[in-house]
Amino acid sequence: MTGTDHPTDATLDVAALVARARAAAGPDGRAAVGGIADWETFPFEREGLRLRALEDPVVPEPPRRDEDAATCSRCALPDEVFAWTDGTWRLSGRGPVSVPTFVLDPRTHVDLGDLDDDAAGDLGRMIVRVERALAAVPGVGRVHVHRWGDGNGHLHVFFFARPDGMVQLRGLVMPLWTHHLPALPDDEWDAIVASVVAALEAGPARA
Ligand SMILES: [Zn+2]
Repeated sequence: MTGTDHPTDATLDVAALVARARAAAGPDGRAAVGGIADWETFPFEREGLRLRALEDPVVPEPPRRDEDAATCSRCALPDEVFAWTDGTWRLSGRGPVSVPTFVLDPRTHVDLGDLDDDAAGDLGRMIVRVERALAAVPGVGRVHVHRWGDGNGHLHVFFFARPDGMVQLRGLVMPLWTHHLPALPDDEWDAIVASVVAALEAGPARA
């Protein structure tokens, strides 16, 4: 099999998925709020909470921002707006942020699935370097790494630092919490960025 072959006859039947969800929903089209609302990490109280009704799938999907390299705003950014760059990667640490938040972009216009094996390996090493640099900052309990890719066509990987001891922010709910916490003071954030940059400048080897 070559890389261009479709590997199987498998299909995700989206129409059937939506139909099942709607059949399981209440008469107003809303499914009941699930057990996630009982998680101790869930940001919202169950009382008064309700799901939105499922919308129809949009096919083809609307384009993301920066799909085209020729007009990509991320490609057009000068190195000066990034906290750290090298020949392949650019790391931004722009504030204000409620928890330390970094975004890693490749210098060239690619999405995740465009990476060849060498570039994929390089991305993996770079993710570990950034994670290690951020995790070393006192007060950081854990570094969360995310790639969603729904908003922008230029690959970008998020790093969120969960504050040490804030176990209520553990796991997948932390990005929701970040929208509800005040911004870090500028001097505190600037020092964290400088610390991460210094660790990256020190090189890839484990300290
Ligand atoms: Zn781009």
